[in-house]
Amino acid sequence: MDQRINMFDRDTGMDLYGEFTRTVNRKVTCAVSLTERDLTIQRLTSAPVGRNKVVLSLKDCVGCRAYREDDNADPAAYLSAYFYPLKRRWMSSGVSRQRVEQCFRLAALQDPRANLEEAEKWARAVRKRSARQQYLRDGLLMCESSGPRRMMLLVNPQSGKGQALTLYNNHIQRILNEAGVPHTLVITERQNHARELAREADLSQWDALVIMSGDGLLFEVINGLLERPDWEEAIRTPLGILPGGSGNALAASIHHYSGASAVSSEELLLSCGFLLCKGLVSRMDLVSIHLSSGPRIFSFLSLAWGFVADVDIESEKYRHAGAARFTVGTLVRLASLRVYKGRLAYLPVTEDQDNEKGSGNSVTLHCTNQVSPQDPAQLPRRPSRDSPCQNTFHNSCHSNNSLKVRRTESTPPRSAAKTLSGPPDNLLVPLDQPLPSDWVVVQEEDFVLMLAMYQSHLAEDLHAAPASTPNDGAIHLFYVRAGISRGALLRLFLAMEKGTHLATNCQHLVHAKVRALRLEPYAPKGTITVDGEVVEYGPLQAEVHRGLARLITG
Ligand code: ADP
Ligand code: MG
Repeated sequence: MDQRINMFDRDTGMDLYGEFTRTVNRKVTCAVSLTERDLTIQRLTSAPVGRNKVVLSLKDCVGCRAYREDDNADPAAYLSAYFYPLKRRWMSSGVSRQRVEQCFRLAALQDPRANLEEAEKWARAVRKRSARQQYLRDGLLMCESSGPRRMMLLVNPQSGKGQALTLYNNHIQRILNEAGVPHTLVITERQNHARELAREADLSQWDALVIMSGDGLLFEVINGLLERPDWEEAIRTPLGILPGGSGNALAASIHHYSGASAVSSEELLLSCGFLLCKGLVSRMDLVSIHLSSGPRIFSFLSLAWGFVADVDIESEKYRHAGAARFTVGTLVRLASLRVYKGRLAYLPVTEDQDNEKGSGNSVTLHCTNQVSPQDPAQLPRRPSRDSPCQNTFHNSCHSNNSLKVRRTESTPPRSAAKTLSGPPDNLLVPLDQPLPSDWVVVQEEDFVLMLAMYQSHLAEDLHAAPASTPNDGAIHLFYVRAGISRGALLRLFLAMEKGTHLATNCQHLVHAKVRALRLEPYAPKGTITVDGEVVEYGPLQAEVHRGLARLITG
């Protein structure tokens, strides 16, 4: 509560009005007014060209600062405010965030200190009101920072086209500075470097761990955090992602959750940079996956077998093509389409569980690890057609598919978790034991693909699980039965770009919302990927842990 009072401290919430000159052209005077929602700039000197009035929403503001130039003879102070509004793209129907900087010169008084104080009063008010706009939009009224936010920013110089560091220098450094976010840049040196850092870091030093890479680096960080003896606390560290790789699925998902229309490449980067500066944190589901040997791993994005896993790995060689590598890989794999044999079973989400709203959904980066009692309605609601029925297939996208479901014999559930760090897997029994009775075993044994998703996007242009939200406690399980033609499979992937694949009436595609699954491939060799990384091939099972991690979603 003290922090809430702190938020209003020294900002009365009353409208501010001032007449300042432009920094770049001192002949131009502007009337500047600040309300709770907007900053309005009205040009007083008549303008021969251009617009006379600009209204900028404080929701789009990342920061504002007051300063003096190193000129002792000049008593003026300066005010700069940084906005990233959504603007229509040139020659396109889409919108994306574009940077707008507003700079003013305040020189009403002869005393330089008094001018600076006035500029600081404005800067403080702009910052506090933009923070308030953010929280109000999300149904929250939370504190502003009681101290600076410290971010560890891990950059993988090898990810994607090898440009992550350049992208940081050209786009991210500036926006973080404008937002006043102190960060320490850590350049990873090798595979598993980020994992070791996450496992060993003194987390009291950091308010957030942010990665700039593809999804693979976040996979390392999450698993490093869950390997710690203090995993329960460690996994509550807010995590952020900036797209710098070739597979930027989580970044594309975060952008989608913000309600903005699809963008790619540098526009996606700027959007994620903006959301990162806004600093709103949501809970994020993690899925623990038991492979046949070795300790379990934690996944935040996807588990794939068959077509999708093969494309993911085979497309490594098209890495220089960036995000387009998956499109190329899909076309190549389609030419040699094959069937994958195995057994698939799952524990469906029940209607009760599905209706259960996530409690304590959002936190702010500013108050690290504090859970808000409110449930912000910031994330898109799931369409009702996805509401599952208990123990049936859900949203099977066709009418005449016989739902061949075999019930399993009843066994008392026994946890499969060995003594490991991380939460216990209460829904799983050991892999060599029969499944509990409430599991559903898929009758088919011939598949083209199995894909389990827990975020909306599988790649920048693959909206694979439109109904998925970061904290819905569900694994969105898709499988494609054998017998699908190449053309039909291609149509599915093309539809996936817009997220309309479930509406294509494909006879072979099945979707179910599940809490746990087991997969037993029959072939001795093959590929399974978790979050786009190859893992040990063989039987596996997985269970979702609702809201285990924290994700900066803006
Ligand atoms: P991409 O989407 O381009 O594949 P990822 O973030 O998934 O990018 O990274 C790919 C792999 O690179 C990950 O497995 C990660 O462990 C590894 N990696 C991280 N840092 C380095 C480095 N400095 N050199 C080589 N590989 C690295
Ligand atoms: Mg999810």
